[in-house]
Amino acid sequence: MQKPIACFIFGKNIGGYAHIDIKYTDGTQTDISWTACLAGKAKDPKNDLTQALREAIGWQIFEYKKSAEMICEICLGEIIDDKIHVDHEIPFKKLTTEFLKANEAPKEFADCLITHKTKFRPEDEIFQKAWEEFHQKNAILRISHPTCNLKRSRF
Ligand SMILES: [Zn+2]
Repeated sequence: MQKPIACFIFGKNIGGYAHIDIKYTDGTQTDISWTACLAGKAKDPKNDLTQALREAIGWQIFEYKKSAEMICEICLGEIIDDKIHVDHEIPFKKLTTEFLKANEAPKEFADCLITHKTKFRPEDEIFQKAWEEFHQKNAILRISHPTCNLKRSRF
C-alpha cells in the first residue's frame, strides 16, 4: 500500500549528487537517488503497472488541459500560463482498482526510450485500449493552480 505523498524535496547530498526526498502526508520521509530515478528501472511490478496505467491516459490529461476552462477549481481564480495542475476527482487509485477487478493486468512492461517511463507492451494493446476507454468514461478531471493544490493536499 502506497502512502500519500505530500511533497518532493530536491537537494544535494554530501557527495554533491542530486537527490530527492519524498515526504509523505503522515510525516515520514524517504530519500531516493536521482540516478535511480533516471534509470527508471523500477523493480516493483505494482509500481510498473501504475506507471503504465498513468502513461496510457496521458493523452487524456493533455486533451483536458487544452480544452478546460482556465478556472482554478479551488480558489476559482483564473489560471494564466501553463502552470496547471490536473488531478482526479475520483482518486486514480480507485479507478484502477475498479478496472483491474474485471481486467487481468499484464505482468511485463516496456520502457519508453525517450521518457524512460514504463509503458504497456504493444502486445497488450487490447488491455490498454480497454483501460483508456474506461478512464475516459469514468474519470472526472479537474484543474487548479499547482499552489492551491499543494495547500489542499496538506489538509
Ligand atoms: Zn487557485
